[in-house]
Amino acid sequence: MRAAVARTFGSPVVLTDVPIPEPELGEVLVRVHASGVCHTDLHAIDGDWPVKPTLPFIPGHEGAGVVEKVGADVSQVKVGDRVGIAWLHDACGRCVFCLSGREALCPKQHNSGYSVNGSFAELAIARADFATKIPDGLGFVEAAPILCAGVTTYKGLKQTEARAGDWVVISGIGGLGHLAVQYACAMGLRVAAVDVADDKLALASRLGAELVVNVKKDDPVSVVQTKIGGAQASLVTAVSTKAFAAGIGVLRPGGTCVLVGLPPGDFPTPIFDVVLKGLTIRGSIVGTRLDLEEALAFAAAGKVRATSTTQQLGQVNEVLDGLRSGRVEGRVVLTYEG
Ligand SMILES: [Zn+2]
Ligand SMILES: [Zn+2]
Repeated sequence: MRAAVARTFGSPVVLTDVPIPEPELGEVLVRVHASGVCHTDLHAIDGDWPVKPTLPFIPGHEGAGVVEKVGADVSQVKVGDRVGIAWLHDACGRCVFCLSGREALCPKQHNSGYSVNGSFAELAIARADFATKIPDGLGFVEAAPILCAGVTTYKGLKQTEARAGDWVVISGIGGLGHLAVQYACAMGLRVAAVDVADDKLALASRLGAELVVNVKKDDPVSVVQTKIGGAQASLVTAVSTKAFAAGIGVLRPGGTCVLVGLPPGDFPTPIFDVVLKGLTIRGSIVGTRLDLEEALAFAAAGKVRATSTTQQLGQVNEVLDGLRSGRVEGRVVLTYEG
């Protein structure tokens, strides 16, 4: 089968033929039809996170496809099922995090395209228990970006604990943010969008944002505090440390700021404000299987749609270069025909 293999950190991935893996106990073999390309794939390939993948490996954790073969002791998924290969390849199911519904924090988890081979291949192995079913009527190309970008923003919004009618400030209307605006509206939240680009803010307005702030022209903290008396929640998807300070500044007392973007470096925390206003600052990483099912259901219901373009698997290095230089708009989804 054809696969994109990372052989040395920081080099292009190599398109090559590799043996088709055999599904073992509790595993399924998935024929991948589409796979989104995420910034995390770039970090895996460049090996620039503290814990590096073991070379060689196949990246990819937004894989959508069809079960082609099942291993022993698999009854929950069958051949022909449409499933997703997401970041959470598996978790132990026994630790305090797994048992308390926080499996994305499991210290024994494996991650697709990082600690196990991922979806930049014509066929990929998934754990049957973690192969989330893709709802009927939701295409593979449409489903792929939901498997990481979608669930990440959806879970991030849940983690703000905002309720219908509450205001949420979403900063950064890029690949994650444009999905966040749609999830927030579908969840009944009122959205204020913050970005540096007018075209991104126009997109946010079309997707349902009621208030938009261009940080090049206005200070989001004073606009949000003056116009709506502060927001109950903020979700920071922007990869700028300045956005993190603003994400806290826009909150009203008791508010929660959730971070999902991962810019390098740190940001100062205004301790006085956090203490006196009883603010919460929280990190959020992907989601559980249930979060993923819910995130896919919103997409299947037509309430959330990722802006994406498609490229062939053979173009994967061009796509990665585009991500590296920030040239990519929305999600690029690899398709595997031919
Ligand atoms: Zn991702
Ligand atoms: Zn666990």
